[in-house]
Amino acid sequence: MRERYATMTRGLDWEPSYVTEEQMYPYTQFEGIKIHDWDAWEDPFRLTVEAYHKYQSEKDKRLYAVIDSFAQGQGHLQASDARYFNAVRMFLQGVTPLEYQAYRNFGYLARHLNGAGARIACLYQSIDELRHNQTQTHAVSQYNKYYDHLQDPNVMHDRVWYLSVPKSFFDDGLSAGPFEFMLAISFSFEYFLTNLLFVPFMSGASFNGDLSTMTFGFSAQSDESRHMTLGLEVIKFILEQDEDNVPIIQDWVDKWFWRGYRLLSIVALMQDYFLPKKAMSWKESFELYLEQQMLEGLFPDLEYYGIRPPRHVDQAITEKNYMPHQAFWIFYNYAHAGAYNTTIPFADEMEWFSEQYGEHFDDFYRPAYEKAREMQADGNRFFNGGLPMLCQVCQIPMGFTEPGNPVAHAQRVSHYEGERYNTCSDGCKWIFDREPWKYRQAWLPVHQIYQGNCGGNTIPEVLDWYGINTSENGEYLDTTDAKNWAKWHEPANVS
Ligand code: FE
Ligand code: ZN
Repeated sequence: MRERYATMTRGLDWEPSYVTEEQMYPYTQFEGIKIHDWDAWEDPFRLTVEAYHKYQSEKDKRLYAVIDSFAQGQGHLQASDARYFNAVRMFLQGVTPLEYQAYRNFGYLARHLNGAGARIACLYQSIDELRHNQTQTHAVSQYNKYYDHLQDPNVMHDRVWYLSVPKSFFDDGLSAGPFEFMLAISFSFEYFLTNLLFVPFMSGASFNGDLSTMTFGFSAQSDESRHMTLGLEVIKFILEQDEDNVPIIQDWVDKWFWRGYRLLSIVALMQDYFLPKKAMSWKESFELYLEQQMLEGLFPDLEYYGIRPPRHVDQAITEKNYMPHQAFWIFYNYAHAGAYNTTIPFADEMEWFSEQYGEHFDDFYRPAYEKAREMQADGNRFFNGGLPMLCQVCQIPMGFTEPGNPVAHAQRVSHYEGERYNTCSDGCKWIFDREPWKYRQAWLPVHQIYQGNCGGNTIPEVLDWYGINTSENGEYLDTTDAKNWAKWHEPANVS
């Protein structure tokens, strides 16, 4: 099999004779990364194209059998409650389109990397990512019949304010060079931060009765382990090729850690607030996967190459105690302008938050939630009527506080060519100041609304342009989702 693999993949490579290597692979020079021996890159997948497709189609057959029977058995009624579908919305609007973005860029790498081993690895990952986009769409499409906001995820992804957070993350990677993209996606996203994604999405789906998404997750798991292996091989390969690569890689580790971590605030929010049944808190998973496995496990190994832990990681550690609550408060405030709904956590959830987060929750967020609940009881469910300032880099509304000081809003300012730019944190400011010419071009949803590019200057006009059905967002308890859920779960009258 080994021989067959070698013959059918790397054995098909050839030396160009009509053009130079630089002409054939024009994009691997400008980032300053030096590669002396592309053959040293072993493709970690070691599969022929034929074996790859056989294996994947077996997995697809199993997956679609489960999806079908779950859908036919009205599987959606097994969910923990209708608030859970906000997690599905976030997944379909925010993550599934990223799979498509990944498919495009790994396809580009499969053409443009000099080494055959590198190209074949990227080809498989590209096909994997297209499959993920399709299987995720199929796994959750059955819910579209019963729940709103699942109808047009790609338009939403391109337009809606909170979805510019994941979109801009990937756009940043796509518009970088091929090596930076691999560091951003293969290493930072797929290797370094992947468990923090997997726990809320797949374990969360499993805990909350969403067999369909859970089965997709298992079906993707063997793909993901390939992608993680690739992520680790990429960074080691580049570091081993030339010492001059080390400072460039360190900069990218620093940048993409913070970008990835900020992107995860949406995930933290989902994990703690959109899963009615809690699998694990953000804080617990951060401690286990980031602090123990990555900082104590991986980074001591990378130290051998001269790589230190990411800049600003200490601020992320400080924020683990409260970041999801700050993210939720933003989403609670602006639920009338998004493709989701929110409500103040129920009493048993408030207790869970106190257990998980202690005084970090009880001193600051519990009182705010109790106040909001009182206002709602008086008929004044609170929605924020203004447009928030956005961070120029991560594009999240500026709702985070100074590290360690939960009552002072954090805001950083940079100047570039006579203009002023605002960022949410030291991490985002550092990223902006490294490449101000890049981030000045950011498509900031709030600025775009002010400039008249989003369908009009009233909320209904903007929501219409976003493709959002206005009756089903805002307060969860007032939605058709909540009413249907109660009706569908009324006990049968047996008398
Ligand atoms: Fe994927
Ligand atoms: Zn930011």
